Amino acid sequence: MRQSLPKDSNILEIEKKWQSKWEETGAYRFDWNDLERPVFSIDTPPPYTSGEFHIGLVLNWTYFDVVARYKRMRGYNVHFPQGWDCHGLPVEVVVEKANKIKKTDVPPDQFRKLCMQLVEKNIEDMKKSIMRLGCSIDWSAEYRTMNPDYWRRTQLSYILLYNKGFIYRGKHPVNWCPRCETAIADAEVEYDTRNAELHYIKFKLEEGGFLEIATTRPELIPACVTVAVNPNDERYAKYVGKSIQVPTTDRLVKIIADEMVDPKFGTGAVMICTYGDKADVKTVIKHDLPVIMCIDDKGRMTQSTGKYAGMKSEEAKKVMLADLKTQGLVDKAEPLTQEVSLCWRCRTPIEILEREQWFMKTRILTDDVEKNALEITWYPDYMKHRLIDWAKSLEWDWVISRQRVFATPIPIWYCNNCNEIILAKPEWVPIDPRTEKPKIDKCPKCGSKDFRPERDVLDTWFDSSITCAVHAGWPDRKDWHRLFPASMHPSGVDIIRTWAYYLMVRHLALFNEKPYQSCLINGMVLGTDGREMHKHLGNYVASLEVMSKYGADATRQWATAGGATGSDIPFRWPDVEYGWRFLIKLWNASRFVNDLIADFEMNDKSEHALQPLDKWILSKAERLTKKVTEALERCQFNIAIEETRNFAWHVFCDCYIEAVKDRLYKPERYGEEKRKAAQYTLYTVLYRILQLLAPITPHVTEEIYQIMYAGDKGCKSINLSPWPTPDEKLVDEEIEKHGDLIVALINEIRREKSGKHMPLNTPVKRLKIYAGSKDFAKIIAEGKEDICGTCKIENFEVVSQKGDGREVANYSDVHFVMEC
Ligand SMILES: [Zn+2]
Ligand SMILES: [Zn+2]
Repeated sequence: MRQSLPKDSNILEIEKKWQSKWEETGAYRFDWNDLERPVFSIDTPPPYTSGEFHIGLVLNWTYFDVVARYKRMRGYNVHFPQGWDCHGLPVEVVVEKANKIKKTDVPPDQFRKLCMQLVEKNIEDMKKSIMRLGCSIDWSAEYRTMNPDYWRRTQLSYILLYNKGFIYRGKHPVNWCPRCETAIADAEVEYDTRNAELHYIKFKLEEGGFLEIATTRPELIPACVTVAVNPNDERYAKYVGKSIQVPTTDRLVKIIADEMVDPKFGTGAVMICTYGDKADVKTVIKHDLPVIMCIDDKGRMTQSTGKYAGMKSEEAKKVMLADLKTQGLVDKAEPLTQEVSLCWRCRTPIEILEREQWFMKTRILTDDVEKNALEITWYPDYMKHRLIDWAKSLEWDWVISRQRVFATPIPIWYCNNCNEIILAKPEWVPIDPRTEKPKIDKCPKCGSKDFRPERDVLDTWFDSSITCAVHAGWPDRKDWHRLFPASMHPSGVDIIRTWAYYLMVRHLALFNEKPYQSCLINGMVLGTDGREMHKHLGNYVASLEVMSKYGADATRQWATAGGATGSDIPFRWPDVEYGWRFLIKLWNASRFVNDLIADFEMNDKSEHALQPLDKWILSKAERLTKKVTEALERCQFNIAIEETRNFAWHVFCDCYIEAVKDRLYKPERYGEEKRKAAQYTLYTVLYRILQLLAPITPHVTEEIYQIMYAGDKGCKSINLSPWPTPDEKLVDEEIEKHGDLIVALINEIRREKSGKHMPLNTPVKRLKIYAGSKDFAKIIAEGKEDICGTCKIENFEVVSQKGDGREVANYSDVHFVMEC
């Protein structure tokens, strides 16, 4: 006798129970000793430890947890680790604010300690959310990028890349955030449009007269190194090669011709400053022009600007314009919408400064990136172009040094005597040059014993872009290639240019191998109003709020059903509520089925006397299995959940269960054999539904499985049960067509009753069906028992002629007349 399912499903309690049981039993540990099963390795992105596991991350993690659970059921030994990306500016900023200090006010190791405390607290909160979502992570493989053991890997990779010639130090223009006071990479620059003013300013020609230029940044005039015009611009041809005076300075510069100048912009003559933007950088290199740095690390004007020194650029702009006006050099100003480059962390407009930095050569790998990106499977496919286009658009190498504190130290010292670079040996790492000396007696070049540390630190992406190798066990495990390249790298559409790209170039440079075989991309989660989700827009939803109200399985249904993989999806409370209602429907249906099959012997191997509707739903279940399997293979989660939910709710519950109730309740009328056939079908189809749902709604399906099926099936968890292979023999189009007609007829009779406000169990004295054809009449006659049983029909007659009466939906030739 089976245990019965309690009336109250209590989903939230069920979820918590299974989450702790799975963890206790280590159900999702990767088994290094298992050499039989194929391996599936997930390159779980270590999330940035901001402290909040927001709803966008819920979408990410749901996607790849579904993949992990599905692959386990497909017989894979799944490696699903979880790390934390700890370093970086936002943590530093919070620590600075909370302790009312600047990063330079305390020794670096003390500042670091404060950051680590904050990160630990943040991880605790985020981990709770990941567990609450029911992710089947192997927590024995947890790591933090801020721990020395991870530094060791980051620093070792630095040393290897240095020795392979991929890393160099150079003075080069870099994107600079004056608020964060650090260099940032191209990938960390965001673009936005802002309203600006285009000022028309007169420059004095040496030979007399003026040439007018247009600029949005007059404060950069002191850094003007040339004035450029288009070579095809006839208005200015005569000036090329002539000298012109830079206003507010006594410098003369030469006028040059360059095709990059747009004759239609402003006056067609522009000043080139070092540096106003990236185009200036190109012009300066091309024409070998001098560099005048007029803005410093903090975004203030430098000594080279004379009287403007010390001013912030906005202030310098005002003063400069006033000065030019006094001299009669300002003509007019026009409003202009302009694209500006912003720091992605703080949205401050960036400057382009020239500073000594460490770089990684990435552009030499662009062809390789493209080749590998084309070999990788992308879900969805078109996302590969995002990576390729980004790689091709890069004009500068990756600047990997940062002028911050909480980050992995660069394992470098300099000789104070001869400036020789001392690179750490692989066996020295982890090491912090800021607090430790190089492990050598003297400078190998000059013999000096006086060293100074590299105080710059590494970009956070330099930590997180080796995860494919680290997850696989590099550099400690000899067999790390078992898990490398990762089977799947999941990522958000917004970070293809960072995460997917940096992973690619780092691993190509280090190992000459692609890091991942497939890439799963999720879109963004939009706010409840369809706009971007922001706290200040009032459309923000906290993931824990959703999960504490409706639980993980409902939340996961929203995430998977929200839209096609890769597309942006809005957060919608009704979708989560629908998921919740579906779980209750599933619970109640399972409870009902469980009662109906209480005396059913699963191990009875005798042939069942399957009736048309039994064969009909068994065939449909096989077809569904095929569809869902194909969808999950292609990471089309929305198709998998929608198909299964529709089948479970509308085919299994609404049609099949209703149609066989009478057969189950009245064996004296239909015979024990037919009752058993219905029991067998209910048992089999419900199990199939639970299995197909298990990757997406693992908790509720587990609970039902444990009560109803675990004893028979013998797997310790439904999430470890073998994925069903569709049985082609059971798919029968004829039978489905027959069943569809019978079900349509039953539904129409029920609609007729409810249209007349009759209870569904009202007996029908007489039903006459005009089938419209011999074929239909035969099919309907075969389904007589189920039709009469379900609809309580006392006298049943079917004829093959066409006739009047109520038309059956989708079968325009079939009509019936009903007398109650
Ligand atoms: Zn910034
Ligand atoms: Zn030296």
